[in-house]
Amino acid sequence: MEILRSWGLQDEVERAGMPREDVLAVGVGTSLSADDYLRKAAAIAEDAAQSPTYTYLCSQDVLEVIMRRVAASAADVRFGATMTDLRIEPGGVAATIVADGAATLVRARYLVAADGSRGTVRRRLGIAVEGPPPLGHMVSIMFDADLGFLPPGRRAALSFVRSTPGGAIEAVDNRRRWIMQTGYDPAKGGSAGDFTEEYCLAAVRSAIGIPDHPVDIVGVMPWLQQAVVAAEFARDPVYLAGDAAHVATPQGGFGMNCGIQDAHNLAWKLAAVLRGEAGPRLLDTYAEERRPIAVRTVDESLVNAMITAQMMAGRLSMNEAIEQQAGRRGSEGLVLGFHYDSAAVVPDGTPAPAPADPYRTYVPTARPGHRAPHVWVSPGVSTLDLLGPAFTLLTAPGSGWAGVPGVRVVEVDSAEWAEVYDVGEQGAVLVRPDGHVGWRTRSADHAELEKALDVILSRS
Ligand SMILES: Cc1cc2nc3c(=O)[nH]c(=O)nc-3n(C[C@H](O)[C@H](O)[C@H](O)COP(=O)(O)OP(=O)(O)OC[C@H]3O[C@@H](n4cnc5c(N)ncnc54)[C@H](O)[C@@H]3O)c2cc1C
Repeated sequence: MEILRSWGLQDEVERAGMPREDVLAVGVGTSLSADDYLRKAAAIAEDAAQSPTYTYLCSQDVLEVIMRRVAASAADVRFGATMTDLRIEPGGVAATIVADGAATLVRARYLVAADGSRGTVRRRLGIAVEGPPPLGHMVSIMFDADLGFLPPGRRAALSFVRSTPGGAIEAVDNRRRWIMQTGYDPAKGGSAGDFTEEYCLAAVRSAIGIPDHPVDIVGVMPWLQQAVVAAEFARDPVYLAGDAAHVATPQGGFGMNCGIQDAHNLAWKLAAVLRGEAGPRLLDTYAEERRPIAVRTVDESLVNAMITAQMMAGRLSMNEAIEQQAGRRGSEGLVLGFHYDSAAVVPDGTPAPAPADPYRTYVPTARPGHRAPHVWVSPGVSTLDLLGPAFTLLTAPGSGWAGVPGVRVVEVDSAEWAEVYDVGEQGAVLVRPDGHVGWRTRSADHAELEKALDVILSRS
């Protein structure tokens, strides 16, 4: 959401998504209408105090239409086009793109393989994935149903139901559209072909808890539950991003977020190298920075999936299940607290915060490598709104910093900023185009700034 905010999309995504108070709730029960249904919701006031935005749930088909408009304003976006062949050549790639039955050969210096978990580029390069074998053969059943008869206290983004077959009910708009996540076991003779309309209707009605409730099945999609990370994220000139590079379990809602952050990390580096502003070594830092974050994110999604598996197997009581699910909902430590150690970061010798619970607890810090922390600098304006699209130097008013080519100097007049960023009256924080701190100093030394930029941009 912070990245979408930087693209000016926050309001539109908020409107397209679910009401915030509904997003904060999870439930468990034998069915949605069973007496044993328990719901737990976090208080809005506790949600994401350390960000100018919040966790939202917005259906992916709606979100992608919004994002497509922004992409199309900057690039040639083509639908119905398939890359059918790829050759690595000296100095780049040659790809065959087929659209409307016609093949076109496209040559490029770099290729970003964002072709998802079933894409072919990673396999073509012979890059393996690391992680456990597939965790389950899952099926998403999208359906429309009026669940207005449920008491308001049962509105939840996600409800786990131990019906037949059990699974999770996800709210799409929390009014009419829902998705049931369930699955089958091939070892017991199950297959995706079992999910006929009749079977899906029975599964959904059992989850609702009313045998003849009116339900329209909108779509059925089989998918493989996995927790894997590619052994390599890059083999020049090809860079893997999104599910092509890592597949998290859906539990926690991390997969697409992690993929968007890959793109955010890679895009400015590609641009800087192609413009001749950075050395090609900068591109190596993509894998150095993103792969450890992907491993950690996928591991945490696996922990979440194990809780769900235990719950569905009946090894947790309803009370234990709701406590554990609600307890893992807040993941600010994971999603805001991660940091990069790479050649594109100049360390300042300070240690990274080490909270007791690095999954839940985010400790704001402007230490190099970390996401520049959010602080309100004036009503409705966050430090994050001051950043980009190139490098930004944040400093106190009157500190004496002047701009250098490629760096915008922004003076921040805020006591809270001074405390959180911790650079004194003369110091400054150099924030990279992806919002991560690249360098921090407590003295106004322009020569050091030039040197830091040379290091970050791999300029010899
Ligand atoms: C049930 C479920 C719930 C989820 N919930 C969440 C959530 O709440 N939050 C979250 O962050 N993530 C969630 N995820 C994960 C999220 O859906 C994925 O991480 C995300 O869609 C990955 O995006 P991607 O662009 O990398 O890959 P994809 O969405 O798979 O897109 C890849 C695209 O590449 C195209 N493609 C492939 N090969 C070619 C080719 N040769 N030529 C042309 N095009 C090609 C494909 O057609 C596809 O359109 C969930 C996933 C599942 C299964």
